[in-house]
Amino acid sequence: MRKPFVAGNWKMHTVAAEAEALAAAIAADAPKAGVDLAVCPPYIHLQAVAKVLDGTSVSLGAQNMHFEAKGAFTGEISAEMLLDAGCRYVILGHSERRHVFGESDELVARKMTAALSAGLHPILCVGEKLEEREAGKIMDVNERQIRAGLEQVRPEDMAKVTIAYEPVWAIGTGKTATPDQAQEVHAAIRGLLADLFDDDVAQATRIQYGGSVKPENAAEIFSRPDVDGGLIGGASLKADSFLAVAQAAL
Ligand code: PGA
Repeated sequence: MRKPFVAGNWKMHTVAAEAEALAAAIAADAPKAGVDLAVCPPYIHLQAVAKVLDGTSVSLGAQNMHFEAKGAFTGEISAEMLLDAGCRYVILGHSERRHVFGESDELVARKMTAALSAGLHPILCVGEKLEEREAGKIMDVNERQIRAGLEQVRPEDMAKVTIAYEPVWAIGTGKTATPDQAQEVHAAIRGLLADLFDDDVAQATRIQYGGSVKPENAAEIFSRPDVDGGLIGGASLKADSFLAVAQAAL
């Protein structure tokens, strides 16, 4: 059985005192078993939040990284730096990275390789835009992004990989995919993992849903058989709503 995984993507929100208080409030009431939890604050708060989370059941993740180990890459952060700051997870290929900052499938693939070889657990985000859904290209897009993102990933490293299916039209819009729409794509993604690797890998890999998940809709979405928790944006910025979403995954 896959253990559900709920991660909070704080995006570009919080100043230091808010980040530490939010992490502390989440850790204080987080379920101790039955679900893996992580928060992904802005880079600048990682070390402070790592201290707050130390010894708790909540892990730390980053929202992005660069694929090179070091060098003249002004403004970038390496996998080793994230590990050193206390991160276990890193979100890669988030739709805002792909569509606001122009990250290509190839760039995301290089980040996947770098994250895994450094020992991080990447959350590979994929998802179609509204026009792609309406044009009947849902799985074309998700398959292309997954094939590219996992191309260099060895089967034995798949235990460290989470996939997050986040339809772009549902992110930050208040429009959630229905539980059936989510389940349909999650099942297709699991089928693709079986083709790319094997059944064992497909059955063991966690696939999160992301896009306007909140306490009111989380339980129904998470109840679908191929939905293994969520990647939560807006609702992760308040401890009580994030914890309610986490409870819904139990
Ligand atoms: P949202 O964001 O929950 O605010 O829609 C999800 C995400 O971007 O990961």
